[in-house]
Amino acid sequence: MESKEFDESCVDQFASAMKRKLAKKREEGRGGWSNKEDCPKDRLIKMMSDQFDKGDPINVANFAMMLWARGEGTAYSKDQSPEQAYACPECRSDMTPSDEADRELKPWYCHECGFNEPEALP
Ligand SMILES: [Zn+2]
Repeated sequence: MESKEFDESCVDQFASAMKRKLAKKREEGRGGWSNKEDCPKDRLIKMMSDQFDKGDPINVANFAMMLWARGEGTAYSKDQSPEQAYACPECRSDMTPSDEADRELKPWYCHECGFNEPEALP
């Protein structure tokens, strides 16, 4: 069994790594995750689950932290399908990230109604 010191040392190092990643994202101009209107819970959950496949536990942890800090859980809303997590807040069409390979970093755009979300995402 791990010692208390080992456990807590790992948590501290992990938290430091989370902070470094968040700092990098702020420098890139990303933010807005604490705004529940601009950044719905279900989208954060979808972004977190996308990170499982991408492979970096720090990214998973940061999305989990955001949900936790907002007082929200990691389960989708009852009426929410994961496929619709990126739906346009105006017309419910699927929004498109400007870069599919880097969904959590780039602006989102709705091709149906022109809704644009330049800074609402972490
Ligand atoms: Zn739209």
